[in-house]
Amino acid sequence: MSDWLNPGLAHLWLPYTQMKTAPAPLPVASSAGVRLRLADGRELIDGISSWWTACHGYSHPHIRAAVEAQLATLPHVMFAGLVHEPAARLAQRLAKLLPGDLDRVFFTESGSVAVEVALKMAIQYWRNLGHAGKQRIVYFRHGYHGDTFATMALCDPEEGMHTLFAGSMPDQIMAELPTDDTMRRAFDLLLETHGERVAAVIVEPLVQGAGGMQMHDAATLAFVADACRRHNVLLIADEIMTGFGRTGRLFACEEASVVPDIICLSKALTGGTLPLAATVARRHVFEAFLSADPAAALMHGPTYMANALACAAANASLDLFEREPRLEQVADIEAQLATELAPCRALAGVADVRTKGAIGAVELSCQPGGTIDLDGLRRRFAELGVWVRPFAKVVYLMPPFVIDADDLSLLTGAVRRVLTERAAALA
Ligand SMILES: *Cc1c(COP(=O)(O)O)cnc(C)c1O
Repeated sequence: MSDWLNPGLAHLWLPYTQMKTAPAPLPVASSAGVRLRLADGRELIDGISSWWTACHGYSHPHIRAAVEAQLATLPHVMFAGLVHEPAARLAQRLAKLLPGDLDRVFFTESGSVAVEVALKMAIQYWRNLGHAGKQRIVYFRHGYHGDTFATMALCDPEEGMHTLFAGSMPDQIMAELPTDDTMRRAFDLLLETHGERVAAVIVEPLVQGAGGMQMHDAATLAFVADACRRHNVLLIADEIMTGFGRTGRLFACEEASVVPDIICLSKALTGGTLPLAATVARRHVFEAFLSADPAAALMHGPTYMANALACAAANASLDLFEREPRLEQVADIEAQLATELAPCRALAGVADVRTKGAIGAVELSCQPGGTIDLDGLRRRFAELGVWVRPFAKVVYLMPPFVIDADDLSLLTGAVRRVLTERAAALA
């Protein structure tokens, strides 16, 4: 075993982890393609792309070379009063790829901060136009938009991640995704009632990720966008998880022909190599900040904004989307996930099986006692040589897009096997 593991673990505080009872984390030594190599030489096939980032697999030589070249010339420079080629090129490329006139890019270093910037943009947009009362944000049940205080206030209050802090968070307005006519009337009424206080609606288009891989159709998304327009409210699309091909299109909004006023990107933006996020505004949003008044400017600027290494990685990732058939690979993964996860529907303890793009989710029903033994499931997956990490009530697969059919079958086979074992234990 590695000599750094236990001495280091004594000083690490891990995410979302009860440090007293959680099983020890696995030491990873290296990564390549869809495989993680552990310190003891074992290999795991990766089923979740490191929190949905590693869309080209790990250590892609093209991204590595781009970051190495950037490291040799300009690893980082502050982004106020100075700019650099990787950020300029990346902004231009994102503007070209994104739908409509989403063409003004503000870079940050994490998804949560990208959402915070979107909220600031939305609220200040209305203030700059003389509507200072429009400050509230409408979000949806099962939504997830980050872990900082402003973004926690937009996460499903019942999913339990953030209830502890309820008293310290801004008060926002939760809505149901309007998936049928009755709910559409209710959503319209909500915007009609609160419209004068509401700056924006925020939505994860087509798939709500960390809230449990809940899926809705393009018509629902299109209705939300249309309702925002009719009620004079901005639409923020949080595509931090769905962006860059995960749902089958480069951006999920495209499937509904929706052009949000602001879009948030991160996760797969750098192909899973370096932290970077972008908040991209449409022209009319940006133009509301142009004024002789200095106070009308957007007051935000993270120290490591537009880090040049991260921008170089993102440019290399976009090269790969251009050169390699990523969306075709996603379509193949979608078909295979649908076929190979379908048998899970018949298992005891399974409530639902859903697939969309390169996302396959099996929702579990609770064991007697109302709990799901997540640690037990996670341990079993690792024993079977796959990296699959269920959370809340879902066992899900979001593999790198470069995975081949055999490796994907190993992942779906492991899911079927572990849930079959669970069904037997439940009986
Ligand atoms: C992961 C995620 C975030 C938060 O991103 P971080 O980089 O973890 O801060 C926000 N919104 C969505 C939809 C996400 O999936």
